[in-house]
Amino acid sequence: MGIRAGGWRAMAGGLVAKSCDSCKNCAAALFCRADSAFLCLTCDAKIHAANKLATRHERVWMCEVCEQAPASVTCKADAAALCVTCDADIHSANPLARRHDRVPVEPFFDSAESIIVKTAAALLCRLPQFPTPKRHRSVSH
Ligand SMILES: [Zn+2]
Ligand SMILES: [Zn+2]
Ligand SMILES: [Zn+2]
Ligand SMILES: [Zn+2]
Repeated sequence: MGIRAGGWRAMAGGLVAKSCDSCKNCAAALFCRADSAFLCLTCDAKIHAANKLATRHERVWMCEVCEQAPASVTCKADAAALCVTCDADIHSANPLARRHDRVPVEPFFDSAESIIVKTAAALLCRLPQFPTPKRHRSVSH
């Protein structure tokens, strides 16, 4: 299962990603259905780690195309999570796309951070950049 962030974003062209309802600083990476809130990874971790009940909150990723709405289906052919609007848009575009196999998006209950490690979606919340050590390549003639 591959979630690609960024690939689609270029196509959406200049749309500003929805910001986190909690800190209003980061781009929202997911939507908590129980809270009806868009959250970035940091706030998700903070809010949902705070109490045991909250770990039962159903969360879904943001739509990878518009980043404005929670994803509702995953298109296997596109390997992308799409909201209702984008799903309709993209898959009504041509007869081939209409045949794409789509499944309802699977909500997750774990901390998004533990899942995100495997996905490029981590880039959505501009994580602090680690200083890259300069590589000195010794060139000997
Ligand atoms: Zn936040
Ligand atoms: Zn929640
Ligand atoms: Zn969308
Ligand atoms: Zn598709």
